[in-house]
Amino acid sequence: STPVAKVCGLSAAAKMGLIIKGGSHLEALAKVKAMAFDKTGTLTEGAFQVVELQNVYPQEDIYHLLYWISSLENLSSHPMAKALVEYARLQGIEPSKEVKDFKIVPGEGISGNVDGRVIEIGNAKLASAKRWLTNSQFDIKEEGITVGYVGMDNRFIGYFCLGDQIREEAADAVNELQKQGIHVTVLTGDSKAAARIIQQQIGENIEVKASLSPEGKMKKIAELRERWGLTAMVGDGINDAPALATSDVGIAMGVAGSAVATETADVALMSNDLRKIPEAVKLARSSLGKVY
Ligand code: ADP
Ligand code: MG
Repeated sequence: STPVAKVCGLSAAAKMGLIIKGGSHLEALAKVKAMAFDKTGTLTEGAFQVVELQNVYPQEDIYHLLYWISSLENLSSHPMAKALVEYARLQGIEPSKEVKDFKIVPGEGISGNVDGRVIEIGNAKLASAKRWLTNSQFDIKEEGITVGYVGMDNRFIGYFCLGDQIREEAADAVNELQKQGIHVTVLTGDSKAAARIIQQQIGENIEVKASLSPEGKMKKIAELRERWGLTAMVGDGINDAPALATSDVGIAMGVAGSAVATETADVALMSNDLRKIPEAVKLARSSLGKVY
């Protein structure tokens, strides 16, 4: 195709709320064979609601549990964090401003020292590594909900359940991509159960891979490239930056995503409307004047 056609495609894409950073990405988008989606904040709104908060021992009352949780989450940019800090504030609990040794374990959780106590918050992977649930009175079933486990000085002290919602256009967008002949996969750091719910809502014919670390997501992208060819990744940049960088076309969620992701991505979705992605593929294919 001609360079002129590519430039036209880019500005048409910008008009529909999609910034494609250069003709080579437009061409790649036209030829994409596989596309991977991050779950939280990408296929879902990432607008979490706290639906349950439970302490394990009576001495660690809900008030303190929430204080420790919000103190750590206040330093995190994960979509879960905002919901927890707001929930605490609604109960009059302000996060500590003196958290020490704050650490992020990507795809697993966070930790830090609050008032001399080591607090850890994370998913089932963390809970099982710490053996928090063995001999526990709690048999927690993660059915379509995201569970966070909380430990203090290595001891399991509580958990919370957060609900998130699939974006209303997610199923349409994915089904349209499939009609375009693109293999769609969901890659998530969340549990199998949470991934399964997404599969039920979008379609049984999408592939889902759960409990992935950021490196795990990156490896899956490499596998997709080997199996299908040109592979795109759609993510919000939180725990999926390596996968975005490894893909042939990195598509970042503009509004919901992290600023760095939007800057480094090949394509930025300014409206967060996932339907713009199959529309962009269509536009890319027609502006290159070929049907792939
Ligand atoms: P996804 O791939 O669905 O976007 P992430 O990779 O961002 O999910 O996160 C994976 C999991 O790690 C989350 O489902 C959560 O259980 C845990 N996690 C990550 N960050 C935090 C945090 N700030 N607080 C609690 N848990 C977290
Ligand atoms: Mg995410």
